[in-house]
Amino acid sequence: MSEVQHLTDGYMTEERQMMRDSARDFVANEILPVANELDPVQGDIPMDLRRKMAEMGYFGIRLPVEHGGLGLGVFEYAMLTEEIARGWMSCASIIARASSYMHMVNWPMEKRIELTEKAAMGEYLQAGALSEPDAGSDLFGSIKTRAVLEGDEWVITGNKYWCTFADGSNVINVLCRVGEGRAGVRTIAVEKPPGELPANCTGNPIPKIGYFGWKTWELRFEGVRVPKENIVGPIPGESAPGGAEGKGGGKRRLAMLSVPRVHTAARSIGLARGALEDAIQYAHERVQFGQPIADFQETRFKLARMASEIEAARQLMYHVSTEIDAGRGSDKEASMVKWFASEMAERVTSDALQIFGGAGYTKLHAIERYWRDARLTKIFEGTSEIQLRIISDQLLGKPTSRNQS
Ligand SMILES: Cc1cc2nc3c(=O)[nH]c(=O)nc-3n(C[C@H](O)[C@H](O)[C@H](O)COP(=O)(O)OP(=O)(O)OC[C@H]3O[C@@H](n4cnc5c(N)ncnc54)[C@H](O)[C@@H]3O)c2cc1C
Repeated sequence: MSEVQHLTDGYMTEERQMMRDSARDFVANEILPVANELDPVQGDIPMDLRRKMAEMGYFGIRLPVEHGGLGLGVFEYAMLTEEIARGWMSCASIIARASSYMHMVNWPMEKRIELTEKAAMGEYLQAGALSEPDAGSDLFGSIKTRAVLEGDEWVITGNKYWCTFADGSNVINVLCRVGEGRAGVRTIAVEKPPGELPANCTGNPIPKIGYFGWKTWELRFEGVRVPKENIVGPIPGESAPGGAEGKGGGKRRLAMLSVPRVHTAARSIGLARGALEDAIQYAHERVQFGQPIADFQETRFKLARMASEIEAARQLMYHVSTEIDAGRGSDKEASMVKWFASEMAERVTSDALQIFGGAGYTKLHAIERYWRDARLTKIFEGTSEIQLRIISDQLLGKPTSRNQS
């Protein structure tokens, strides 16, 4: 793959640059060929590739060194996510499934540490079952899946929709209603063997149009039972346990809201860069009217605009990541970069496809994958409209109609 130089001053230490360069090589040699082979046939990310990604440390970028992670910050996480998404978005997504959320579950410390160490090796990965058929953007207001405490167990009943990796994960974090109002909506960890759905849970893959490499499921929870300790945060009716947020909770809570948005921005930027680099190469190769299409001003200006948009998104991502690493609140800025980068990625991948002409509208080039996957970045982790709602609420205050409800 050809490389497009980008601005690095101000953020790039030598160490970061080396990490980025080795990721770039890894993606070109290990991820891109697999993506080009498996995405067109909707194949899953192979275990062998997952193992290689684990050896590179990608599952443990932000996990503590003493538990097998790299102990790095959101900046490095975003920077490496961009690199991986340049190859295959689902590989950039699966690294986010190894987080330290288990420290918020009421499990004994030994279990939490053991799972963190496994997560850092990519051997304990999560799925998230938040969305439901009638609960999308308005998750907390519309959620219907219920968990009821029966003795020492939660019994979970309800329908979930869009649960990516429900089959391959080691645990599904299920958003459930356990009581009234917003505070009554809680996450419960449902552990299970990878390759299976939990006992008393059935489901089917949804026929999505992209984001291949793993499946996305509709699920029916029909009396799924888990120990009461599996709830995230305090167990209702009991005093605060060690598993609740604990030291540094406020900082972690802020990061929990912002990091997935920055991660999605990084995925968008990686996709857009892939499209730009492929389009530049194609523009040099494709000859019409006796000259490479790269000589036509319209092509040149299109590519210039695409590169500028990518760089603007990247610099905002670097800024927001640096702010989060410094422990500063950046909720609004995280929404800004998620919105800006995902909208940019759709435009840029579409322009890149245009440069390919008819060839772009085939499965013979990776450009269609970047375009299809970029389209999703405007929808998941909060749609573009929801990001604009968050930003405008912070600029203007909530509208009167919503304050009254
Ligand atoms: C491929 C894929 C994978 C996914 N993986 C997961 C997963 O692993 N786990 C999970 O829980 N979910 C997952 N999702 C679900 C995703 O998070 C939701 O699709 C997303 O939150 C939007 O919800 P919705 O689809 O129900 O859209 P809706 O909420 O129904 O929105 C429909 C439209 O209305 C707009 N809208 C809604 N409310 C407002 C408002 N207040 N103001 C302005 N516009 C508004 C939206 O922006 C959108 O354009 C996945 C989705 C896809 C497509």
